[in-house]
Amino acid sequence: MGREKLEQLGVKLPLFPTTSVGSFPKPDYLAKARADFNKGKISQQQLEELERKATAFWIAKQEELDVDVLVDGEQYRGDMVAYFAEKLPGFAEGGVVRSYGNRYYHKPIITGEVRWEKPITVEWWRYAQSLTKRPVKGMLTGPYTVMDWSFNEFYPDRRATCMALAAVIRKEVEVLVAAGCRIVQIDEPALSVRPDELGIAIEAMHRVTDGLNAYFITHACYGAFEYIYPGMLEMPVDNFDLEMSNSDLDLLAVFRSQPFTKDISFGVVDVHNHQVEDVATVRRRVEQALTILPKEKVWVDPDCGLKTRTVEESIEKLRVCVAAAKAYRN
Ligand SMILES: [Zn+2]
Repeated sequence: MGREKLEQLGVKLPLFPTTSVGSFPKPDYLAKARADFNKGKISQQQLEELERKATAFWIAKQEELDVDVLVDGEQYRGDMVAYFAEKLPGFAEGGVVRSYGNRYYHKPIITGEVRWEKPITVEWWRYAQSLTKRPVKGMLTGPYTVMDWSFNEFYPDRRATCMALAAVIRKEVEVLVAAGCRIVQIDEPALSVRPDELGIAIEAMHRVTDGLNAYFITHACYGAFEYIYPGMLEMPVDNFDLEMSNSDLDLLAVFRSQPFTKDISFGVVDVHNHQVEDVATVRRRVEQALTILPKEKVWVDPDCGLKTRTVEESIEKLRVCVAAAKAYRN
């Protein structure tokens, strides 16, 4: 199903396509430029020039590593929820909160009707795609996660908030698809935080994707997936991108209880660990995946975004992903 859809969209991929979850670390000059921009020392335009330079660096690097489906690396983003909240009327910036581990962010506050005014990510996608012939994924944060990671002072309840956000995110998908984007990833890392709300997340994803001609991926992590499986397979997406290695592939036991029916982007390297896995370790993980998933359905990538790793570690982790995938193609 997944492969047929990709072919129909004109995307030809080898077995075990390799990709990344989304974020890459920012080179030192960009981290410095962002700090300078916040202090008013450089202009928005100067900052954007460096963001473009860093995006071009990561596109070229992914090509050099022979990754199949590329990402723009999110060099222009701080936080994955705050980035969208800052660009949507209806949100106000909140105070700094700690969400998990060492992740601190300004938790946005919904103070009015959330509206989509103009494209948010399309110019970045267009720019990244102009640099390569390989497909570049469109990257959005999903309605359930934006809802869960924001304060709501406007909508009556969590479901209403989530559906309003879904309508807005759908607009962004529509403009991405109209611009030529064929693979769209809608991140829902919060998917399993409240298993009783899985139905809301699924309903919202329907509103985002129904009737739109693209191959849809959703990324989820930090999960207690055993509580939402197999119900999560009802999500209207083609591919689940899942953090597998951080939990020693425990999820595979869950998938044994009921067949996994989607394509999977199987996380084969741990993004929380500085240590770069060796190819043998990663190959063993792919081999484990193949004990319960048909090979046509398996994509290979890191567990999650690599932005907390160094540039060098990120490159090396991607390199072993590609090496392991290639080892299985033959
Ligand atoms: Zn993640």
